Amino acid sequence: MFNSLELTGRCSTHVREVPELGCILHAEAVPQALALRAAARAVGIELAIVSSFRDFDRQMALWNAKYSGARQLLDRDGRALTHALLSENALIDAILIWSALPGASRHHWGTDLDVIDRAAVAPDYRPQLVPAEFGSNGPFARLDAWLAANMAKFGFFRPYSTDRGGVQPEPWHLSFAPVAEPALAALTPQVLSAALAASALHGREAVLARLPEIYTRYVTAIDPPRVNLPPRPF
Ligand SMILES: [Zn+2]
Repeated sequence: MFNSLELTGRCSTHVREVPELGCILHAEAVPQALALRAAARAVGIELAIVSSFRDFDRQMALWNAKYSGARQLLDRDGRALTHALLSENALIDAILIWSALPGASRHHWGTDLDVIDRAAVAPDYRPQLVPAEFGSNGPFARLDAWLAANMAKFGFFRPYSTDRGGVQPEPWHLSFAPVAEPALAALTPQVLSAALAASALHGREAVLARLPEIYTRYVTAIDPPRVNLPPRPF
């Protein structure tokens, strides 16, 4: 279903532009993403996709900006960290709790999307994608409840809904299980390691040295889908 370049976001042969949604998704996720949006619209929720497919180079530009100190680093509580005071490994962890390792972002697959409810905010509202927006007093509380009750019918789940000690909870991040689950299974440490070794990632050697631990903590430690996956022909 995926080759190693697709799995690690180094090509875009598995995704396509979806003008109706204003985003780029895996071809097999498109019909259900459209159905999800139509169902939300029927109850007054305007599902807007603020992030979808993202390639390796874009993820690496973000990583390298944080690694070099050009972009602010935050701790788990959202407090600013001082770049100069961090060891290389502390720096890597500080990046990983908020940003995926290039090659290991679920957004590389085109199966994952970050959503908000445009009907719940003013037209000029700039979403911050923080948990408070999806909390009971946030503008997206209704979207949050609607997704919890309805997304599984369309094959979607939230891989980062609880704090599992790796990636911070991201209630806005949806994943299309029928394609994302096989992608996760195919993204082995070997595939990831080969992609990183061929890259210009800042801190590459330090990352590669602790890749098994990073892989367990930040790649596979997700909340599993609660949807019934149809058998797939490979
Ligand atoms: Zn996301």
